[in-house]
Amino acid sequence: MTELRTLKVALLGCGNVGAQVARILIDDAESLAARTGARLELTGIAVRTIDAPRDVELPRELFTTDAETLVKDADLVIELMGGIEPARSLILSAIQNGASVVTGNKALLAQDGPTLYEAADKAGVQLSYEAAVAGAIPILRPIRDSLSGDRITRVLGIVNGTTNFILDQMDTTGAQFADALAEAQRLGYAEADPTADVGGLDAAAKATILASLSFHTRFDLENVHCEGITEVSAADIAAAKDAGFVIKLLAIAEKLVAADGSEGVSVRVHPTLLPREHPLAAVHGAFNAVFVEAENAGELMFYGQGAGGTPTASAVLGDLVSAARRIVLGGPAQIETTNGQVPALPIDAVNTSYYIGLDVADQPGVLAKIAQLFAEHGVSIEIMRQTIHRDADSNVESAELRIVTHRATEAALAATVQAVKGLDVINSVTSVLRVEGV
Ligand code: NAP
Repeated sequence: MTELRTLKVALLGCGNVGAQVARILIDDAESLAARTGARLELTGIAVRTIDAPRDVELPRELFTTDAETLVKDADLVIELMGGIEPARSLILSAIQNGASVVTGNKALLAQDGPTLYEAADKAGVQLSYEAAVAGAIPILRPIRDSLSGDRITRVLGIVNGTTNFILDQMDTTGAQFADALAEAQRLGYAEADPTADVGGLDAAAKATILASLSFHTRFDLENVHCEGITEVSAADIAAAKDAGFVIKLLAIAEKLVAADGSEGVSVRVHPTLLPREHPLAAVHGAFNAVFVEAENAGELMFYGQGAGGTPTASAVLGDLVSAARRIVLGGPAQIETTNGQVPALPIDAVNTSYYIGLDVADQPGVLAKIAQLFAEHGVSIEIMRQTIHRDADSNVESAELRIVTHRATEAALAATVQAVKGLDVINSVTSVLRVEGV
């Protein structure tokens, strides 16, 4: 039997994900070697504090605080430190030394991906990042490889488990946002500082990656319209539920064709109403799912655990075995195709349905006034429902009006809402949310 060659693997970071990657590399060494055609030797693990407590017991001699030296002598580098620096410099240094790199660092890829892709391309090494979007779910490889003979038209993703958990809690228990967030923090689904999750930034970083691969164009965070879930109220959730919808935070990348025939891509993250029968509506708790629409394949959905050390390690190991096989077999690295060159469109260009909640005076003729104003702005109403409330103390009646529109542009909707606010019969506009999947 021929002796297998050995490939040196440097691991940067030994936290939630890194510790599980190290465990699998050591415990599964034999079967990984058989699948790869080479032994994957873990040569070192770079951390900040060598003696920090770890989730997994690992040989102490593997640990180092000298990440620069560790990457110099590696065939494959796995970056699981997170953050921008020193991760960025270490990845670039690894690439320049001829190592292939696997990372799960969506924040870095969203901020400076093109620099890393170009460096890898120039050096002829592989840069893989399946773990950066939706944890364990194989989604980037299917988009890049399996669907490379098709044309993707739209991607809708629940790519942030924290916000899905919070919205799901609000939907199932009627809780307010603050209480659902506190529950998510108690159960470990939300960090002490949840800003990046609830503000939509984490999902926006993933949206840039999904959009770039789906439309063969490099998008960055500046191209993403981003709204988080902090303004979603229990009343919004209840009203949506009543109308047959569920509210989800979606990362959306969608090809749009303008009236003049020109094409562009809208990349956005915002709370979205989905019909309760839409496949993404069935994604509960902290799970993730990505719904892909392609011209020939039709609708596809990828579902699973979007975070967690062990599930995410699965995606990292998949990339590692694939990059190692390429080294064993030889041949060029797989590069990102950027031949699409479609422009990113501003949010004003988006054409979708809207849900609008209005608190209105309970007077005759109010519905007609509102309907006429919508018509004047070219926004047609699909559903209009009214619920009457009587204030027990003042005995004054008011009405809650819920409107779902047909497709309209963001600009037309914004003008309509502005005009509605000026009507004397309107007490307040309680919510404006976009609707998908109808
Ligand atoms: P983590 O638990 O915070 O672990 C980070 C590790 O990196 C720690 O071991 C830390 O060392 C080390 N580290 C940080 N800065 C360092 C520095 N300057 N020099 C040397 N070592 C340094 O992070 P994680 O949750 O495993 O996430 C790792 C990456 O995977 C991130 O990019 C994250 O976005 C991505 N990711 C995570 C998940 C998930 O479920 N956690 C899912 C998908 C993607 P010490 O241990 O000594 O502090």
